[in-house]
Amino acid sequence: MLSASVRYQMSTDTKKLQLQKLQSLLNYLNKHSPFYQELFAVNRINITEIETLEDLSKIPTTGKEDLQQRNDDFICVPKQAIIEYTSTSGTLGAPVTVALTENDLQRLTENEYASFVCSDGTPRDIYQLMLTLDRQFMAGIAYYSGLRKLGAGIIRVGPGVPSLQWQTILRIKPTAIVAVPSFILKLLSYAKEHGIDPNQSSVKKAVCIGENIRNTDFTPNMLGKRIADNWNIKLYSTYASTEMQTAFTECSAGKGGHLNPDLLIVELLDQNNHPVPPGVPGEVTITTLGVEGMPLLRYKTGDICTYIDDPCSCGRTSLRLSPVLGRKQQMIKFKGTTLYPPALFDLLNEMEEVIDYVAEVYSNELGMDEVLLYLLPQNHNEETDRRIRAYLQARLRVSPHIQYVSSSEIQKLQFAETGRKATRFIDKR
Ligand SMILES: [Zn+2]
Repeated sequence: MLSASVRYQMSTDTKKLQLQKLQSLLNYLNKHSPFYQELFAVNRINITEIETLEDLSKIPTTGKEDLQQRNDDFICVPKQAIIEYTSTSGTLGAPVTVALTENDLQRLTENEYASFVCSDGTPRDIYQLMLTLDRQFMAGIAYYSGLRKLGAGIIRVGPGVPSLQWQTILRIKPTAIVAVPSFILKLLSYAKEHGIDPNQSSVKKAVCIGENIRNTDFTPNMLGKRIADNWNIKLYSTYASTEMQTAFTECSAGKGGHLNPDLLIVELLDQNNHPVPPGVPGEVTITTLGVEGMPLLRYKTGDICTYIDDPCSCGRTSLRLSPVLGRKQQMIKFKGTTLYPPALFDLLNEMEEVIDYVAEVYSNELGMDEVLLYLLPQNHNEETDRRIRAYLQARLRVSPHIQYVSSSEIQKLQFAETGRKATRFIDKR
């Protein structure tokens, strides 16, 4: 079986470089990683037999549970070599500490520098960072150090507070922002309420983090559309995770996030750990290159994407990843179709008749997934109900169960779990 990575269109030089870096990673793990030493021994992996990139598929994958249960066994350096203790967000399960050495921080800088260059950043730009640099958030320091290397201006305003963001935009005149797309919507509604014309501002581009702004075919999704309808700026999506310490960032073509092959090997794998062809959803599985503190080998991120390996119109030949379709654990096998919550949310967001919603998934007596939508409708009448059902039937090709609820009931459902953050997905399987 060919490993997915070799099927991607990479130049021979790039493949050679990746193989060299992979082999030194294997040697390094064999010497310094308690977790991988054991994995090699238990599975009788002789690392000298990994002679090509496709041989990578001989090594078992690593999962999130491994990281959660044996966090310390992944660390390859003595404590005094660790500079930054970052942490995953822990949205699914316990948070994981990812420790970085000085070299890892340099690598992170290189990675984010390349990302900003890919998204048309120049030293003349001034970036307003609308995100935290605290709370062990790796991406925050990555953006900051990447921009330092680029030589661009940086304004660290932090997350939230639209009034302060606008005051700062009007005062310092940044050319770019880095922000969560749903927060950009909040910025726009603040602007509307306070007579600020966003199109007259200095901001010309936004690097969008944490949420999709496009559908899988790269057309703007509801979030992307709502931003574009109100603000004439260029949007660049970026996808990253703490574990990979690397980002996939869009160029001006906006047709997928570019892989940086110096820093990462990526495979997209199906349920049986076999590589999927371009355009077919697979789990993003990564091997970090050049990481010292906590390198990962064939780590399954849980994110489902598709990939493109054709050369991009920007001239880069590196693999590109689609927007994240969803989390593997949240995949819904619904009456013969596969569905991920974000696609379902996009459908619901598009419907004028639906003001708010919560989707619940449970197993029926046959062990099949069933979807129950709690909807807060615009009107509690038959006509609205008919339109909602017809739309869902047309778009999903199957009909989920629907229960109409009041605004207070939807609030209760959304805040039932943590009470801090609204959840629109309840998994009872
Ligand atoms: Zn490109």
